[in-house]
Amino acid sequence: MADRRSPQHPRNLAFKAAIEQCRDMRIELVAERLDLELITASGWASGACPKCGSAGHTPGSGPVDRFNINLSDGGFFCRKGCDDAKGSGAIDLVMVVQGVSFKEAVRYLVGDVSYTVTEAELERQRAARKRRNDQAERNKANRRQEAIELARGQWMRARGEDRAPLRDYLALRGISRRALRDLPVVLRYLPDYPYELRRKIDGRWRTLELHRGPVMLAAIQGDDGKFRCLHQTWFDLSRPKGKPEILLDGVRQTNKLTRGSQRRGAIRLITPPKFTTLVMGEGIETTLTAAIAGREIFGPDTAYWAGISLGHMHGKFARVDGKRQLGQPDLEDERAFVPPEGVRRFIFIMDADGKIEETRTKLEAGLRRAKAQCSTCQRFQIVEPAKGQDLNDMLMGATK
Ligand SMILES: [Zn+2]
Repeated sequence: MADRRSPQHPRNLAFKAAIEQCRDMRIELVAERLDLELITASGWASGACPKCGSAGHTPGSGPVDRFNINLSDGGFFCRKGCDDAKGSGAIDLVMVVQGVSFKEAVRYLVGDVSYTVTEAELERQRAARKRRNDQAERNKANRRQEAIELARGQWMRARGEDRAPLRDYLALRGISRRALRDLPVVLRYLPDYPYELRRKIDGRWRTLELHRGPVMLAAIQGDDGKFRCLHQTWFDLSRPKGKPEILLDGVRQTNKLTRGSQRRGAIRLITPPKFTTLVMGEGIETTLTAAIAGREIFGPDTAYWAGISLGHMHGKFARVDGKRQLGQPDLEDERAFVPPEGVRRFIFIMDADGKIEETRTKLEAGLRRAKAQCSTCQRFQIVEPAKGQDLNDMLMGATK
């Protein structure tokens, strides 16, 4: 009889097979079994936190609940920072929600694991899981390509449309015609454009149109310069700062959405033929403001690109013993932004609308990624705006 502690012991093989089975489970179905009430949108399932019970939305940042599960990799966390509501995958989720051990969680998911299993059977299960994962990857790639094509179609539709309303919108954001002589070619306008969200309602996917109105479209170009994604900013000239009120169940939604794949992309607002300095803000407005303010400071060989989102600028963080290391980039991340070869000086402009210290640390990961992956990049900087103001606010104050 084999040693009970031997990995070849039938009981241990059976347990390994059970773990394989758990890893195969779709996290949203496990969440359902655990009676978590979650709303699914754009690859995330969100709802009240099973640990602190905290529910609710973060104003202005869209349909964000406290507890969030990433449906593509199974990672989950509580936005309120519950340390014990963090993890990855079905087993972790059961451990967190039920407060049980690893073994108990596996039993909860697959039932009795006392049956025996051979090494060959285990291998077969692993191979089957790999095949399913590969197929899922291919499906994902196809959907991504479809999204890019759809985005390109909208971008083409806006060709030739008079862009004067964009001038009016940017003026509301403190960017006057005089300060910005040429409107970037990567910006286009459509007068009547739907704001749509995909939501699962009663188990079926539906497209909800929450709003319709003027939109500023921006092309997001990949590292090969090709169009990959459409950035959409809805605006309303009759409202403060031009921001329309877009509501879902009474909760204010962000007025910006992207469509397509952001992989390594940026909104290349101002790109001189030869540039050695790259200045990057998060949004279009902040970056254009930096371009106006920076003309004297950085000189003519400077490009100004918008980085789309903070997350895209810093990318994934390295993990040590499963813990995220803010400030240290995961160099395997193939999606986050990296400056093109030829850039010597890379500067992030920070928005001041979040936690300053934390944002700075996160952005340092982006600079370290640039240092590791762009061979010409030598100098790095993070520009922090004055307390409580973003650059855009500062310029607005200066033009009053
Ligand atoms: Zn919590």
